[in-house]
Amino acid sequence: MAVGQGADRGLDDIRAKVEAGERLTHEDGLRLYETDDIHTLGELANVVRERMHGRRVYFNVNRHINYANVCVLRCKFCSFYYPFGKSADDGTPQAGDLVHAATPYELTVEEIVSRATEAYENGATEVHIVGGLHPKLPFSYYTDMCREIRKACPKMHIKAFTAIEIIHFTRIAKPRMTVAEVLTELRDAGLGSLPGGGAEIFDDRIHEEAFKNKVGEVEWFEVHRTAHELGIFTNATMLYGHIETRSERVGHLIKLREHQEVSLAKRNSHFNCIIPLSFIPDGSALGNLPGPTGLEDLKTLAVSRLMLDNVPHVKAFWIMQTPKLAQISLDWGVDDLDGTVVYYDITKREGGSDGVTHQEMTIDSLRRLIGEAGCIPVERDTLYRPVERLADGSWRVAS
Ligand code: SF4
Repeated sequence: MAVGQGADRGLDDIRAKVEAGERLTHEDGLRLYETDDIHTLGELANVVRERMHGRRVYFNVNRHINYANVCVLRCKFCSFYYPFGKSADDGTPQAGDLVHAATPYELTVEEIVSRATEAYENGATEVHIVGGLHPKLPFSYYTDMCREIRKACPKMHIKAFTAIEIIHFTRIAKPRMTVAEVLTELRDAGLGSLPGGGAEIFDDRIHEEAFKNKVGEVEWFEVHRTAHELGIFTNATMLYGHIETRSERVGHLIKLREHQEVSLAKRNSHFNCIIPLSFIPDGSALGNLPGPTGLEDLKTLAVSRLMLDNVPHVKAFWIMQTPKLAQISLDWGVDDLDGTVVYYDITKREGGSDGVTHQEMTIDSLRRLIGEAGCIPVERDTLYRPVERLADGSWRVAS
């Protein structure tokens, strides 16, 4: 059946399950992916989303800071890293090199605090910090970063560090530390939550072929399990549209769902949000791949909503899915558009090789995207509590 030719009656049994609030199987997830009836898929995803959130769509006022791009790893899907050990004078990638950023950089703690403070003074409620695995920066760099931001911006939530960075910190700390010790020290210094990156696709084949030197699912889940035990909220991601199959994506979502089930029952916090990240091949060692189409993006967001029935929020990160598609996805199960972002070095949807990383969305633009989709914009903080803006320009978490 082609798009627009009517409802796929073959999905009726899945519709019945969705309407009854029953959990979907791996096979259901694959059938949802394989249907050409994109409209029914969106309608089903919206049944779940509206049950949870009505027509509310969340966004936040945030600022991303990528503290350093120097990295000891060479993940094939990454266009952000600059290889550690390569001379800065010879920064331009040569024929035969794995593709990587043209120039290395690392920010001082003072520079990071200055950027965070500027954002805070402009109303940001969150700073989102991640970077490469820099072998020379000591663990104190990261704790100082959190502590100084906390001092300069007392109300701002610090969401920082992917699971691989946390594992990296356990190894560079002197003496070496456990995951729980690293997370506790960071939390004591001001860390509020983990952003959830670095999950990629939980599958041995993908791990071996695309990012074999990076920690895999065992370590990723260990970090998130420990965070949840400590009461630190986290998000989860899935990088899709490179060398993985749809079945492997559905398997990834089910592993997240199983983890969440235990966190909800036995731990002190859980995943707040799933962020399916659309792979952008430009500038990566997988630059020969076409990347996902718009329909594949919509399907992945909708299938994520339907499979992850126990994760509260599904985010379309507009940098990856584009603002226009992110807006459309609000009728395919999505209830969150991330935030104002401002600077994002990890991927650039357009003009990626020119070094331009200014990618900003205004609050008015976010509200317009959401309102035109027939939804109700709700500014939230990192933990999804509504934020109230006051007449004097300050803000508070609404009670
Ligand atoms: S994805 Fe992260 S760990 Fe891998 S090369 Fe890029 S910065 Fe390094």
